[in-house]
Amino acid sequence: MARKVLRDDEPDLNKGEVVEGTNFDFDLFIIGAGSGGVRAARFSSNFGAKVGICELPFDPISSETIGGVGGTCVIRGCVPKKILVYGASYGGELEDARNYGWELSEHIDFNWKKLLQKKTDEINRLNGIYKRLLSNAGVKLFEGEGKIAGPNEVEVTQLDGTKLSYTAKHILIATGSRAQRPDIPGKELGITSDEALSLEEFPKRTVILGAGYIAVEFASIWRGMGSDVNLVFRRELPLRGFDDEMRAVVARNLEGRGINLHPRTNLKELIKTDDGIKVITDHGEELIADAVLFATGRAPNSKRLNLEKVGVEVDKSGAIKVDEYSRTNIPSIWAVGDVTNRFNLTPVALMEASLFAKTVFGGESLKPNYNDIPYAVFSIPPLSVVGLSEEDAIEKTNGDVLVFTSTFNPMKNTISGRQEKTIMKLVVDAQTDKVLGASMCGPDAPEIIQGIAIALKCGATKAQFDSTVGIHPSAAEEFVTMRTVTRRVTGGAKPKTSL
Ligand code: FAD
Repeated sequence: MARKVLRDDEPDLNKGEVVEGTNFDFDLFIIGAGSGGVRAARFSSNFGAKVGICELPFDPISSETIGGVGGTCVIRGCVPKKILVYGASYGGELEDARNYGWELSEHIDFNWKKLLQKKTDEINRLNGIYKRLLSNAGVKLFEGEGKIAGPNEVEVTQLDGTKLSYTAKHILIATGSRAQRPDIPGKELGITSDEALSLEEFPKRTVILGAGYIAVEFASIWRGMGSDVNLVFRRELPLRGFDDEMRAVVARNLEGRGINLHPRTNLKELIKTDDGIKVITDHGEELIADAVLFATGRAPNSKRLNLEKVGVEVDKSGAIKVDEYSRTNIPSIWAVGDVTNRFNLTPVALMEASLFAKTVFGGESLKPNYNDIPYAVFSIPPLSVVGLSEEDAIEKTNGDVLVFTSTFNPMKNTISGRQEKTIMKLVVDAQTDKVLGASMCGPDAPEIIQGIAIALKCGATKAQFDSTVGIHPSAAEEFVTMRTVTRRVTGGAKPKTSL
């Protein structure tokens, strides 16, 4: 049979695979039915592939042998977290409502168990929807733990211990990642985000270790619901990797909402006492908590996949190494999503999975593009960003960057009296006028930045932002009315904070 002519950068799908004419049980077998796995299964099936997928049994709290169709995002990530953020936001909204004329009694109760039940109902519903999405697409779902048995063979261990074995022309690993606990005495007293989303009792006193988006979001959730929150982190500011100026803004807002920040601090030990968990910091400080959340990072779910059997390469964190098309060093085995530790977000796992399906079964050769990915921290108020931070822009353009900032009191606060500014920032290449990055911290930031992301993807210039008509009265209009340069950073100078 004639082979199709490949472009230099196009993956050769036949390279290294079994001989022509081999009959496989499936064209594609996927391990893991989370965001990436379900997307790849549906798209591949729509292209005519015969697809099998396996997933661990369902429970909100994951383990090496517990998961559920829908994966982290749906069961113990984005969705339940956002439900709790909505729930927590009402606390501040109710306070703000008083100056808008709402007569509310002095004491307002919050019923955690009611919200918890609603959240559980919703993730159960979504778990069912994801199963139906798979069956409607003609995908065969197996409940059990998948492992690699050969370059074209998977083994699924079912709940009762029986093992199934299937051959597949392609295998896709989409097993995601799981939260890790730091190795400190008493670590078993702490919880991860899995348990934090499903606590039986609302924790009135909390300590959170970590400075990433999950730590910051839980600080806002618990504080918004009335908990006394201590956020402990090793650096000067939370949210490493984000624009430094915006990190400072978030820290100020967290404090403004009553969260106790402990920068340059680590936890030394947790001790169970009659009054709760005693938390000892490396400064010798003692805090008492009902819940201690470890939000200190996640590790790829790759250890139990039997990768060594066929020699699939992983990096030192256990992330599966893939090429630009999400293919591992074994040509018939591919990997997408958090297990590859590229950009660990749901929409990115979806992008990688869609392009995998289009490349392998859709007759196109498509690589994921990681430029201008917008994302958000659902703190209260939220932070959202797209493109380059000021620091990255200076590095990537060798300096000569124009920075535009706007700090203002949102109109809603003028009546409510809340002392919390909204901050926006644009970073522009001084030579080309191209907008390189945009950030916002304030109400509705993720909703606004999603639109700005389209402009950046289209390569918009600052002049085009300026010629766009604003929506009045809105906070978003500020993004098209920032006329005056706040500062110009040239010659690799260090960014300055002026907010
Ligand atoms: P997953 O969705 O984790 O799916 C992997 C699946 O594989 C799991 O269901 C697992 O049970 C299964 N599995 C593992 N091993 C096996 C095996 N051997 N056999 C069978 N099945 C197996 N992202 C955002 O974009 N926005 C957010 O706001 C956001 N918030 C988050 C909040 C929290 C608390 C957390 C933890 C994550 C959040 N994320 C968010 C990240 C997002 O959830 C992940 O990036 C996304 O789910 C990754 O998708 P995935 O398909 O790679 O993995």
